[in-house]
Amino acid sequence: MIFDTHVHTRYSGDSQMEPGEAIASASKLGLGLCLTEHVDYECDEDEVFVTDTDSYFSEYAAYKPRGLLLGLEIGLTVNTRAISRRTASDKRLDFCVGSVHVVYGYDIYKSFWSQSVPPEEIMRDYLRYTLTVIDK
Ligand SMILES: [Zn+2]
Repeated sequence: MIFDTHVHTRYSGDSQMEPGEAIASASKLGLGLCLTEHVDYECDEDEVFVTDTDSYFSEYAAYKPRGLLLGLEIGLTVNTRAISRRTASDKRLDFCVGSVHVVYGYDIYKSFWSQSVPPEEIMRDYLRYTLTVIDK
């Protein structure tokens, strides 16, 4: 079975989807589903991008008998390696996505859309920073 392993619901600041909606869509498409809510410790808006994992795992455990897998998308930065490792080692996790949203202290998504940093510079910073983050 093919799984979609990068789906956010209302636990992430950029989604309002209910888990039942995600399950119904995945089922209609014949896909397995693993939610991966945001945990971005350096994001500007960290109160909406750091999922309350206790609440998340507790509330969504009710959907696991329907085949739903529960994961996290952890924003990787050089400053948050230790806490990210601890988060990723949570035994309740079925899956983890590592992502890079903040590079050299700035949010690349916001910088791209506000055009405060040229796109070529964002891409160069993103690639360099990603190599730095994964090189440990
Ligand atoms: Zn995502």
